[in-house]
Amino acid sequence: MVERPRGTRDLDPAYLARHGHVESAFRRTAVSFGYREALPPTFESLELFHAKAGPGIEGEMYVFKDKGGRDLVLRPEFTAGILRYYVNDLRSAPKPIKLFSIGPAFRYEEPQKGRYREFWQFSCELLGASPVDGDAETIALAVQSIRATGVRRIETRIGHIGMLRAFLKVPKDAQGQILHALDKRDFAKLHAELDKAGLLDVEGTLRDLITLRGGPEILQQASDLLGGVGKDAFDHLMKVSDRLPAYGVRDGILFDMGIIRGLAYYTGMVFQIHAPTLGAEDQIGGGGSYALAELFGGEPIFSTGFAIGMDRVVLASEVEGVAAPLAKLDAYVIPIGDAVRQKAFEIAANLRGTGLTVDIDLVGRGPSKNLDYANLIGARWCVLVGDKELAKGNVALRNMETGDQREVAASELASVLGMDKPPMGGVEFH
Ligand code: AMP
Repeated sequence: MVERPRGTRDLDPAYLARHGHVESAFRRTAVSFGYREALPPTFESLELFHAKAGPGIEGEMYVFKDKGGRDLVLRPEFTAGILRYYVNDLRSAPKPIKLFSIGPAFRYEEPQKGRYREFWQFSCELLGASPVDGDAETIALAVQSIRATGVRRIETRIGHIGMLRAFLKVPKDAQGQILHALDKRDFAKLHAELDKAGLLDVEGTLRDLITLRGGPEILQQASDLLGGVGKDAFDHLMKVSDRLPAYGVRDGILFDMGIIRGLAYYTGMVFQIHAPTLGAEDQIGGGGSYALAELFGGEPIFSTGFAIGMDRVVLASEVEGVAAPLAKLDAYVIPIGDAVRQKAFEIAANLRGTGLTVDIDLVGRGPSKNLDYANLIGARWCVLVGDKELAKGNVALRNMETGDQREVAASELASVLGMDKPPMGGVEFH
């Protein structure tokens, strides 16, 4: 027996049915907002991520050398790849540029429920919008994408990392370490980093600041704590949040000064979406505005984006009881005897051509064993093809739920089977 690598999963059909509903809700919503799909490669040059991601992700990457000695990394997220692509190929494209990606990402993390070494992300980037419009649209798209999956119990927390950067007047490296410690609520490390940077006098302020979460009133409290630093940031957040109702986003929105985000490239508004139904790993998405294009050799461009963890949305949709039915096989075709096998395969092919899902005996079982098998795989109908009926242009059709069997004209099979086919796709609720 060969073991599956730690932190990976075999995604079974029932899981993938749910995953598929989530994925199609994300794709539909992004497209409805005017976004187009783009997909950077699964592995990139290490230099794309090196140092740029900051202390948040660097230690968690799958880094390897290829046979040519190049340093490569399995993508831990999509944003850097998309921004590299933008700088390489899309700089002269009309602005704003709206792109989304869906696919697996890889991080060497300690696995637990909701946290894997291979996981799926839905990632969106908006490049070249104006700041209030761009930030508001990004938050609205993230929230509406999750709602489109049927998941309802979410909370969106909006903060601003720019006000913290303005407050921490130290070089970017030291800032990164301090912010990382704050993000992880690692207060021992925070103390050490502030000590190193000569900023121990603001330790209490920072610890108070990150506890502020609530309505607009906390923006004033935060501003008072920071002695007036970051006034523009707080005004900006008010404008962004005032826009959200126009997108139909009204409930479950909070300001939260404790939203830091691990990555070094965030510069302004930052946000996270949490699903309180999920327990420890309850963060299902996050993002904010960032400066990356210039790190990859482009002009600065106002950029906002987010990534949603699809696996966690799948878990939340399960907890909330969102239905994601596994498609049933419409028909299973049973040839009775070798003489009719060729004809049975033709019948199966014709039915498939009408959009029905059809399987056929590939083992050469007898009729009763085949009926048992059809039961096991959950086929809705069995089509029994025998020479006596065929001579009249007919087949026997068996309803696997009721056990009723009758003869129908082979030419009418598709319309009979199509008539009671349950509607597929979309999200249904219990
Ligand atoms: P990040 O790029 O760290 O902001 O992650 C964006 C989203 O991806 C998070 O909010 C999580 O929902 C999801 N995510 C991050 N890491 C993992 C992981 N190891 N396993 C599953 N989901 C993850």
